[in-house]
Amino acid sequence: MAHHLFAVLVRATATVTTIDAHLAKPMRLVARAHRIDGYRLGGQVTGAWDPDYDPAADPNNWHPCSACGGTTRVDGAECRACVDAVEAGRRPGTVVPWSYTDWARYPGDIVALPRLLHPGWRFPPGRTPVAWVDLAGVVWLGTDEAILTGTDTGAVPPRLLGVFHDLVAGRRDPDPTAPPAGRRHIPADRSVPWRHPGRPRRPRVRFEPADWSVAVVDAHS
Ligand SMILES: [Zn+2]
Repeated sequence: MAHHLFAVLVRATATVTTIDAHLAKPMRLVARAHRIDGYRLGGQVTGAWDPDYDPAADPNNWHPCSACGGTTRVDGAECRACVDAVEAGRRPGTVVPWSYTDWARYPGDIVALPRLLHPGWRFPPGRTPVAWVDLAGVVWLGTDEAILTGTDTGAVPPRLLGVFHDLVAGRRDPDPTAPPAGRRHIPADRSVPWRHPGRPRRPRVRFEPADWSVAVVDAHS
């Protein structure tokens, strides 16, 4: 099974509890272009863009040990299943799920887009996405090779810089399914003549970076 880190544009209103609804439409585009068996926020790459985050140290991932019911004792002896808790810095009687599929979703995997647009932004090395996804389409970033061979530096890939420039300049509509804000209502009597008869003018998209976030998505194929 191969895991790939996708950067997926979502509305800034997305949270860890609503993220699945936000990811559904853009990830359908990915599924059309690329065979994927599944995806989730974070997953195996939980905390990818936050090097300080350790899923095992996140209290949201500490579950009461089922072997001892969280009491740390089994039949009068120390419970073997959660004996490492205190040493690992966890509450006594807790365990961390073995599988990433049971990890809590991490809010740090939904990053405000303006952070990525900042000229100083770099991904942690090896954590550069392989693809950018928004409702305009999937852009493969040409980073697979460097990530596989361990030579990824975390510099923003040129193709992603291109996407950023196009978004900010209004040349890329991140959600063509939304009614364009600012499209003028044309009165029925059309007292103002069309400027380009027969050729509808596509309104420029006014793009506000603060309205968007980027989700760290683990897609596996
Ligand atoms: Zn235990």
